[in-house]
Amino acid sequence: MRCISCENLSWQIICKTCQKNLLEPHFHKRELSKDFFVYSFYGYEDIKKLLNTKYEFYGDKIFNILGQLSFKKFALNFELEEQIIAIAIDDHVRHEFSQSAILAKHLKSQFITPQYATLKAANIVKYAGKDLLFRQNNRRKFQYTGKKNKKVILVDDLVTSGLTILEAKEILEQNGCEVLFALTLSDAKI
Ligand SMILES: [Zn+2]
Repeated sequence: MRCISCENLSWQIICKTCQKNLLEPHFHKRELSKDFFVYSFYGYEDIKKLLNTKYEFYGDKIFNILGQLSFKKFALNFELEEQIIAIAIDDHVRHEFSQSAILAKHLKSQFITPQYATLKAANIVKYAGKDLLFRQNNRRKFQYTGKKNKKVILVDDLVTSGLTILEAKEILEQNGCEVLFALTLSDAKI
């Protein structure tokens, strides 16, 4: 096949050269509320084309590569004294796959256990292109059906205003969970 980025012949959908030269992750930290942070690996604009493949049938291949380059590396360097769970935000399958579930999968380690399909938005509203006021007035209304009283990392592909993550955090806290931080592939504010 051809690399989706440089179009050279490649065994993978993104060639090794592009993975190395264009997709080196850079850890970025943003405070969403007091002492609560979201960490991300890429600027949204830098990987926009790849992120939009979540609407394509081959998008799972792209997200698996991105997950390996970023979330997997993170998990390998992350040690804790206790077990925590990684929760993919709203990981229902809209197309062939869920991008946030793929990312959470790559966090699996000795310390981290991914938990799937337990945090779902009851209000399926598209935030893309909408302003903050619209987002504030159209909350996602998450429902949580996972394990209670756990320490949690929240996982998503993109953070924009951060409202989705904060709303997810709120419902988890109502279920006795402690949300340590959020981890997203990209940040729209970088
Ligand atoms: Zn390439």
